[in-house]
Amino acid sequence: MTTSNRQDLKEKVIAQADQSVETLYRYLRLTSVSAQHLEIPETVQFVADLLKSVGGEVKILDDLGGNPVIYGFFAAGSKGNANKTLLFYNHYDVQPPDPLDEWESEPFEPSLKDGILYARGTADNKGSLMLRLAAIKALEQADGLPCNIKFLIEGEEEIGSPNLPRYLKEYAELFKADACIWEFGSKDAQERVELYAGIKGSAYFELSTKSASIDIHSSLAAVIDNPAWRLVQALASMKNQNNDITVEGFFDEIEEPDEALMEIVRALPFDKSGLTGPFGLTRPLITEARGENPRDALMLYPTMTICGMVSGYIGEGAKTVLPKEAKVKIDCRMVPGQTGEHLLACFERHLARHGFSDVKVELIESQRAYRSDITDPFLHLVKKTAEEAYGSEAVLYPNSPGTGPMYQFNECLQLPIVSTGVGWAESKAHAPNESIRMKDYADGCLHMAYLLTDFAAE
Ligand SMILES: [Zn+2]
Repeated sequence: MTTSNRQDLKEKVIAQADQSVETLYRYLRLTSVSAQHLEIPETVQFVADLLKSVGGEVKILDDLGGNPVIYGFFAAGSKGNANKTLLFYNHYDVQPPDPLDEWESEPFEPSLKDGILYARGTADNKGSLMLRLAAIKALEQADGLPCNIKFLIEGEEEIGSPNLPRYLKEYAELFKADACIWEFGSKDAQERVELYAGIKGSAYFELSTKSASIDIHSSLAAVIDNPAWRLVQALASMKNQNNDITVEGFFDEIEEPDEALMEIVRALPFDKSGLTGPFGLTRPLITEARGENPRDALMLYPTMTICGMVSGYIGEGAKTVLPKEAKVKIDCRMVPGQTGEHLLACFERHLARHGFSDVKVELIESQRAYRSDITDPFLHLVKKTAEEAYGSEAVLYPNSPGTGPMYQFNECLQLPIVSTGVGWAESKAHAPNESIRMKDYADGCLHMAYLLTDFAAE
């Protein structure tokens, strides 16, 4: 594409981004909280109408349970390349706005202050859908769509996408594409654009032990065993003071990272103050004590985290009691190769071997990790066009430390996936006062227009 074409496209994109803001406001006013089943049919209708208004063909898929999955299709223009198809993944559901009293404006009434737009869903994920559609509109007005574009917009991402794998399997043919742009991303505190070519998996467990049918007077602790101590000792056998996970077999399934991946990981930026500052940490990073590189740990190592523990009395003052039971919730962020089912078997075997067969383990949910082939040219095209559109450095991370249904996408569709979105360092997704900056919104829109253009020309 020539420079003058690029300039013409840029002007059209900026105008479209601007015009789309009013529709974004309407989208943000819909309270589509999947956890509370709020305004789901209304939001599905809104999104379907929106896609149609930009010239898309729409199918609402609702035959396999759960909130509907929306399919959108935009055919390549007459000058475009009909042999190439890009798939966008988005979700129309949002997190609950709680705690409400911490919001400085109404969560479902968009509020614009100093170029920052506040509302639930701005960053996660309604802003990203709107700017993708604005980019399509601008491309239609310029030279026509450069390639085919598909959308998969689901409504259960914020509750773990429980039904999505079934839709993907059933409709794999419909969603077939050459590459996929995922739903989220943001700029970091140094204004670098963060792109993710994968995702960590997650396995969520509850461990519990029970030794009586009621709480007991603690004088009887001289003869009656204590489930809280049992659970604490069982947990201590699973991870040592050096933060080594000591569950036998835990690391067995991990796919070893190759040299190309290691090279990229070694070159990633790491901003320690970005961790120590906002969280008020009182202990050194565990990677320091272990003599490890924190970039390696964030990208490549699995974790085992106690998310919460409960037993007995923790109210004010003293209550001498021997609790009847103890419970802990644990999440493991998994890396490619690992499965929740294998970790469950490891936990059960470990507990039995160490004399804790009274501790029960339940796997509550799990999602596998996924990483695109780091040498795939699509990944580098997304990075190059991001740098051009934002006018700042972009960093391609092999995976996000977070989780989402990327593994299933690749299982069914076999395609490279990169995540990019409209957030910034202070976007506060999932928290009160969620926001995006309107400059990022326009730049993100331009990024999508450039990416679609260059992707079609490849
Ligand atoms: Zn989210």
